[in-house]
Amino acid sequence: LRGEIIAIGDELTSGARLDTNSQWLSQQLTDLGIRVIAHTTIADDLPAMIQAIQVASDRADFVICSGGLGPTADDLTRDAFAQSAGVSLELDPAALKHLRLLFRVRKREMPKQNEIQAYFPAGSQVIPNPHGSAPGFEIAIGDPVPARFFALPGVPAELFEMFLQTVRPRLELLIGRNRKWIQHRVLKCFGVGESELESMLPDLIRRGRTPTVGITVSRATITLRISAEAAAAQESQRLIDETEQIIRGCLGDLVFGEEADELQHVVFRRIAALNGTLSVAEVGTGGLLCDWFSQADENRDCFRGGLVRLQRADAAQPFETAGLQEFAAETARVLRTDYCLAIGAFPQANTNPPGEVQIGFLTPRRFAVTTKSFAGHPDILRHRAAKQALDFARLQLAAE
Ligand code: AMP
Ligand code: MG
Repeated sequence: LRGEIIAIGDELTSGARLDTNSQWLSQQLTDLGIRVIAHTTIADDLPAMIQAIQVASDRADFVICSGGLGPTADDLTRDAFAQSAGVSLELDPAALKHLRLLFRVRKREMPKQNEIQAYFPAGSQVIPNPHGSAPGFEIAIGDPVPARFFALPGVPAELFEMFLQTVRPRLELLIGRNRKWIQHRVLKCFGVGESELESMLPDLIRRGRTPTVGITVSRATITLRISAEAAAAQESQRLIDETEQIIRGCLGDLVFGEEADELQHVVFRRIAALNGTLSVAEVGTGGLLCDWFSQADENRDCFRGGLVRLQRADAAQPFETAGLQEFAAETARVLRTDYCLAIGAFPQANTNPPGEVQIGFLTPRRFAVTTKSFAGHPDILRHRAAKQALDFARLQLAAE
């Protein structure tokens, strides 16, 4: 089953507002086993809307539209659907009654203009809006097999409520025994570039493979998303398990976590398992590690804070290893921790050859140190260096 989302509004196409409804609706449809094949965003423009409805009816089984149901002249969703279906707008007396009641409760005169919100394309079913003035509607459009359209208002709170109360149960009913289970699993990796990681995997990222494996990268953290579609939930789980094992076999300890895991969570978990306490000693990252650890809401107790030394622009000399070790030992002593993760000064960015950052990890038994090359896009340098430090700690802790 294929789904499409059409988001309507000048505020979206002009860039004034981000279309968050499509994201939420897609998660909902995926959850119902409907594969969303397109997001379409259209201005408050009647011909463009009619065209989008036409295209969606040709390629999708279920289409959710958001926006354009208000009472003003730029709200054209009702007209677009009536024209697409070749029908006129008809008054729904119950919807009009609800509208009048809503205004009475709010002790306001209902403007004549609002009556338009009680008109719907002939042959459509009204989708009630318990807390807002614009009801939605459901309508079938297209030949020879019509697509089902659900038009909802753009106000996110109203859209969520109407989807969950009316559209979702309705979709479950319509899908019935054709229900597919789409499930996902996310693996998080760190330590190599995106293309290098891909080259380590057998032909998994290929289009058309099942399960599909998607790869994305955000500030040096690589996310692999495995998605499987099957007629039964157990079957899609089994397919995902199989692919996960292949990936883990190929990538080994480059995989550091799952789902929402970040490197700091994994470090925390390991230190908590060792009954240890952790502090950070930072120069180049200027407190970023301390910030991440203090925001991680699991195992917070094992984190005792950090010391930050300012890096002077004219003195960007890397620490000698001895200097970094001293700084880590000093921090661990002041904050009374068994472990301390230390990161040295940043060299100048993107020199040729690239400069290096020192990373040290103090444990009750030893001080391990490494250097990482400091090159890459300026926007991610700081984050990547911090993550390299966390990753170093993670790998050291695995051996503890
Ligand atoms: P409308 O139903 O078109 O009158 O939209 C009402 C309000 O909902 C707009 O002014 C936006 O602030 C918000 N809105 C509309 N569409 C979206 C969308 N796709 N994502 C997030 N907010 C939206
Ligand atoms: Mg609008």
